[in-house]
Amino acid sequence: MFDALSDRLGGIFDGLTGRGALSEKDVNAALREIRVALLEADVALPVVKDFIDSVRTRAVGEEVVRSVKPGQQVVKIVYDGLVEMLGGTEAETGLRVDNPPATIMMAGLQGSGKTTTTAKIAKRLSEKQRKRVLLASLDVRRPAAMQQLAILADQCGENVSSLPIIEGQLPADIARRAVQAAKIGGYDVLILDTAGRTTIDEQMMSEAAEIASIAKPSETLLVADALTGQDAVETARRFHERLPLTGLVLTRMDGDGRGGAALSMRAVTGLPIKFLGVGEKLDGLDAFDAGRVAGRILG
Ligand code: GDP
Repeated sequence: MFDALSDRLGGIFDGLTGRGALSEKDVNAALREIRVALLEADVALPVVKDFIDSVRTRAVGEEVVRSVKPGQQVVKIVYDGLVEMLGGTEAETGLRVDNPPATIMMAGLQGSGKTTTTAKIAKRLSEKQRKRVLLASLDVRRPAAMQQLAILADQCGENVSSLPIIEGQLPADIARRAVQAAKIGGYDVLILDTAGRTTIDEQMMSEAAEIASIAKPSETLLVADALTGQDAVETARRFHERLPLTGLVLTRMDGDGRGGAALSMRAVTGLPIKFLGVGEKLDGLDAFDAGRVAGRILG
C-alpha cells in the first residue's frame, strides 16, 4: 500500500530539499504536484482540497521561503497534514471494553475480511489484555461462515471460545443467546460477527440495527477492504448513516492498493480508524497509528 504515492512524493520533495532557497512560486508548484499525486492515489477530491488548503496556509504562515531549510520545512508540514488527515496521534484508537461483558459488533460487506478480523481482535484482546472473549456468528444464511468463526476461535487459544451453533435460530435470537452466554460464562468481551452481503441492502441494515439495539455494543466496528478504494469509503459512509459506528478497520493493507481509501476514510466519515488488517494470519492486525502511516508514506 502507498508505494506509488510514496515514490511520487519522494520525487517532489527531492526537488525541494536539494535546494537552498525556495520562492512562494516553488512552494505552490510543489503543492500542485502533491495535489495530483494524492488524486492519483485515489484520495477523495474534497479531502485533497482541504489538505492542500491547510498545508498552503501553514507553509505560508510558517514562512517556509525564509527558513534555513525550506525543503525540510515543507516535508514536515506535509507530514503534519497527513497525520491530521488520518485522525491525529491522540490515543483514541483503543477499544472500549471495560465493563464486562462488553460487546463489540462487527459490520461490513461480505468478503471484506470481517470474520477474520473478528478472530484477530479476539486474539489480540486475549493476548495483550488477558481478556476472555466469546465469539458469535450471526450469519445464518451462510452456515460455512458460522463454521469458519468456530474454527478461527479454536486457533485463538484457550481464552477465546465460540458460541455453540444452534441451527434454525434467527440472528436476533442468537444475539440474545450470546449476551446471556457471555454473562453466565463470565466473559469480558463478546464479539458479534454480523451477516454481510455483497452489496448494501435494506434487510442487512435493519437486521444490523436490530442486533445493535439488542446487544447494545460499546464498540461497533465497520470492516472495509482498503483495496476497494473509494467504494470502501462510500460503504463506510452508508453504514454510518444507519448504524452508530464507533470505528473502522481497514483490511488488506498488505496489498498493493493505491491507499486512497485509507487516506480518505477518516475525513469523509469522521470515524477513527482503529486497526489495519495486514495479512491473512490471525496476528496480521496492527493498531492504527497515524504518525507511523504518515511516516511510511513519506519514507
Ligand atoms: P468476510 O466475508 O467479510 O467475513 O471475509 P473473511 O474474513 O472470510 O475474509 C475473506 C478473505 O480475505 C479470506 O481469505 C481472508 O484470509 C482474507 N483477509 C482478511 N483480512 C485480510 C488482510 O488484512 N490481508 C489479507 N491479505 N487478506 C485478508
